[in-house]
Amino acid sequence: MSPPLHERLMELAISRGFLLPSAEIYQAPGGFYDYGPAGAAIKRHIQERWRQLFITEPGFLEIESCTVLPQPVLVASGHVEHFADPVCECTKCKQRFRADHLLEQKTMQSWAGKQPVELNEGLLANQIKCPACKGDLGVVGWANLMFPTSIGAGGDNPAYLRPETAQGIFLDFKRLFVQQGSKLPLAVGQIGRSYRNEVSPRQGLIRQREFTQMELEYFFNPAQDKMDGFEKIKGETVRILPPADGDTPLAEQDIRLADALQQGYFPNEILAYMIHLEDRLYASLGIPKNKYRFRVMPRDELPHYSKGNVDLEVQTSYGWIETSGIAYRTDFDLSQHAKHSKKDMNVTVVAESAAASEPGKPAPAPPTTRLVPHVVEPSMGVDRTFWCVLESAYRPAGEGKEWEWFAFPPAVAPYVAGVFPLMRKDGLEEIAQELLTALRAAGLEVYYASSGSIGKRYARADEIGVPYGITIDYETKEKANEPGGPTVTVRFRDDGAQERVKISEVPVLLAKWAKAGKVRKG
Ligand SMILES: [Zn+2]
Repeated sequence: MSPPLHERLMELAISRGFLLPSAEIYQAPGGFYDYGPAGAAIKRHIQERWRQLFITEPGFLEIESCTVLPQPVLVASGHVEHFADPVCECTKCKQRFRADHLLEQKTMQSWAGKQPVELNEGLLANQIKCPACKGDLGVVGWANLMFPTSIGAGGDNPAYLRPETAQGIFLDFKRLFVQQGSKLPLAVGQIGRSYRNEVSPRQGLIRQREFTQMELEYFFNPAQDKMDGFEKIKGETVRILPPADGDTPLAEQDIRLADALQQGYFPNEILAYMIHLEDRLYASLGIPKNKYRFRVMPRDELPHYSKGNVDLEVQTSYGWIETSGIAYRTDFDLSQHAKHSKKDMNVTVVAESAAASEPGKPAPAPPTTRLVPHVVEPSMGVDRTFWCVLESAYRPAGEGKEWEWFAFPPAVAPYVAGVFPLMRKDGLEEIAQELLTALRAAGLEVYYASSGSIGKRYARADEIGVPYGITIDYETKEKANEPGGPTVTVRFRDDGAQERVKISEVPVLLAKWAKAGKVRKG
């Protein structure tokens, strides 16, 4: 039996420079990965796609807030009390384990969300011992997942590495609101690192201790929860997994956004619009539409302050994994910070029904209202999304090529092209270098390879999913003085077919093809 796909993919990811195990030359703790050159480029491209859809196109704001937060912030947010996993310690070797994970491995059922008492009973009933030394396991308790630190030399000012990027946006909200003209809605996003001190990191990039998030907070007046642009996209279809009807699980269904909204699966147009954006994002990353779904969380699973939550789940070789959550968090976060900081988080905005002015009289000042804004928050994990992109693009040997390769969309691929002189002599390398310089000056991410057979260089390019290979050959040199200039061959990754084009046109053509997602000649 062949090993699961994720094992093979992790080997490839490391050998081909997508990922590097962090601090590998020491006894590295698990749950940390570095991104190698090809991986860092792909990750950056995923972030750029998100930025384009969630910030640039709608004209929202992007900030970059600090990753170290003073303790009171995380007391207010609830993380100090509630951001914890159920853990038990071996009485013999003192190693600690996730009680729910031990039970899942033994019983093949989900134990997520169970209380320590139930987990204790489960461990006893299933006679589970320490996986490391077979010793007896101690009582299950909660372990907080934040990385503690302290600010200043004295160490008496406790702080944490942030467990999510969202808090920075809530803390900055009041100033941003005023700077932006005291108007709602106001949408602020950020991309950045967050930390979660997992008890037992597993599943590669899926459960890491340091990871990157892309989060947006859409602040709005709850009396005005219409979304600009929703009319245009309300007919689009997404795949949802509705909550169970009592004890009866319901099947996935493809449903129009407007219908899902009408049937109460989504609390408002804003959340529906965020689903549309995530759907567009995943399509552009090359994740097939039948591999992901939006799971509507049942009401009894929602936190008390939430009025709706929809998770984006992707089918991978690990099973279904959650890569994003979109939550209608009401005014919970800002109200918590108001309570704990003693700062007023109310804002003054124009009320919905401004009275019309009567003829001949000056227009009355529009009525205003004071409120703590509500928020819809789409929150996405970059590393998990990266993994889904990798799995979606993977092609085993025999699928079009004799080697394993990656079919990334050009917008995501680590490089748009490789530049290859057929030989290193006879002046071909000089022409290739000139082209390389021109392409890089045009802002295209390209790489250079001049040694080995041309077939091997094409194969190496396929192995990291580079969509185009440009070869400078003897014809390029011999016809350098032809009218219209010399030509080169461009090889398309997916079908390996080649096309002869003018060297002067390469930068424009590459940009055009990449934008159109053209990856084969035919
Ligand atoms: Zn043990």
